[in-house]
Amino acid sequence: MEYLVLSNMKLIFATSNQNKVKEILSMAPKGIEILSLKDIGFTEELPETRLTIEGNSLQKAEYLSSKYGEACFSEDTGLEINALDGEPGVYSARYAGEKATYDDNTDKVLREMRGETDRRARFKTVITYYTGGNYVQFEGVTEGVITEERRGSEGFGYDPIFIPLGSDKTYAEMTLDEKNGFSHRKKSFKLFANHLANIAVI
Ligand code: IMP
Repeated sequence: MEYLVLSNMKLIFATSNQNKVKEILSMAPKGIEILSLKDIGFTEELPETRLTIEGNSLQKAEYLSSKYGEACFSEDTGLEINALDGEPGVYSARYAGEKATYDDNTDKVLREMRGETDRRARFKTVITYYTGGNYVQFEGVTEGVITEERRGSEGFGYDPIFIPLGSDKTYAEMTLDEKNGFSHRKKSFKLFANHLANIAVI
């Protein structure tokens, strides 16, 4: 059994990234209803100014909860590359500049990694569950390597240049189900869902 059983729980996912919403919806077990910011009509940008993935994840959940007053969860993700001393890391969304697109950021990584033989990298996701002024965090990490060029057209962000350990495909060459079989996001979400099930039983 992949998840413990949950019943009738409603949760707001504090993100405006529709790619993340799509992935989280694909992995949520029956019994958890997930509402996106779009679903609740929340259009403000969530702040992301902390210096760590954990900090940014908490900041987004805290902010939404302070505005909306409901239990919610958020996530922050970074790509950490060994040969770049852990960059882009917490700066993954704006690696090539404040207004950088996914393509700009991916191009910059490929440029910085040109000729580099150590291609090791990892995706790290930290989910924060924020409720009643308390929070708990769940981390999911997937190790892999950076390709020399883009491969595939599925997914988003750095998916075309990341091959998870145990596969010969990039995330962008996988279906969503295949990506979920390796995904950093899925690993952290699974810990979160099991936490919810445990507290529902107590
Ligand atoms: P943030 O968590 O919204 O700050 O996301 C940081 C950046 O990491 C995003 O803009 C994407 O470029 C990238 N990213 C996040 N999750 C993934 C993923 O699952 N695959 C590829 N890139 C991702």
